[in-house]
Amino acid sequence: NDEILRKPDWLKIKLNTNKNYTDLKKMMREKDLHTVCEEARCPNIHECWAERRTATFMILGDTCTRACRFCAIKTGLPTHFDKDEPNRIAESVKAMNLKHVVITAVARDDLKDGGSGIFAETIRRTREVNPYTTIEVLPSDMGGVYENLKTLMDAQPDILNHNIETVERLTPRVRAKAKYRRSLELLQRAKEMYPEIPTKSSIMVGLGESLEEIHQTMDDLLEHKVDIMTIGQYLQPTRKHLKVQKYYSPLEFGKMAKVAREKGFSHCQAGPMVRSSYHADEQVNEAAKQ
Ligand code: SF4
Ligand code: SF4
Repeated sequence: NDEILRKPDWLKIKLNTNKNYTDLKKMMREKDLHTVCEEARCPNIHECWAERRTATFMILGDTCTRACRFCAIKTGLPTHFDKDEPNRIAESVKAMNLKHVVITAVARDDLKDGGSGIFAETIRRTREVNPYTTIEVLPSDMGGVYENLKTLMDAQPDILNHNIETVERLTPRVRAKAKYRRSLELLQRAKEMYPEIPTKSSIMVGLGESLEEIHQTMDDLLEHKVDIMTIGQYLQPTRKHLKVQKYYSPLEFGKMAKVAREKGFSHCQAGPMVRSSYHADEQVNEAAKQ
């Protein structure tokens, strides 16, 4: 079916370009930093940066060794290796006065440590400079090498987030170089290493999954001791990417969140514009109460 579904009204948003936002964008370029908020043209950028004081930085460059079919990040052999990046992230978190920061990275299958060394250093420096900012990390599966995960976890982020992205059946199509079971295992291992650090995972819906498969993914995540789940609408970044198969209504998302909480997640955010890092500040507080 080649027909492109029409975007429903609840997904039509205006990009906000007020002064604060423009200044922050300028600072990002000056410091040579990348945010997912900008690169993914996230619809929540104004709310996150200006009101909630949260942002998602992408470290280790802007070129990924993988090419997931939902993701707009460019693919290639990365050359970026910048030992000063952790300092610049730490300073930018301060300049933006962030309450919560999410640090993610492209998959660096070219590096022996999967980038975990720079990741850990970024957590440490950010915490030193911003002791009151909560730090969430969102790494790739780092090739399933658990020493790399250990390097990262030893820096003790406030939340370990690793996205399973879609249901098991669609994983080979959606993120060919990743594995559903490997991601589950990574989440479980992180929990075993530091049981007090909350774990979190997200899926995008609208890729052709059934409701039963979504519920099964919830069960799989819970079985691997995941505390927090988020569910958002998949949006096609360009025509070359996978097509949207379905737009779920806000009501349907509400039902999914209810099921997730009933099944046992301490927190579940679900909605058309929910992204892995959306309202993450609330999730840390919820998880801390458990
Ligand atoms: Fe950035 Fe995440 Fe907020 Fe989007 S939801 S603006 S990616 S922090
Ligand atoms: Fe995008 Fe992450 Fe997949 Fe790389 S590994 S293509 S950054 S989703």
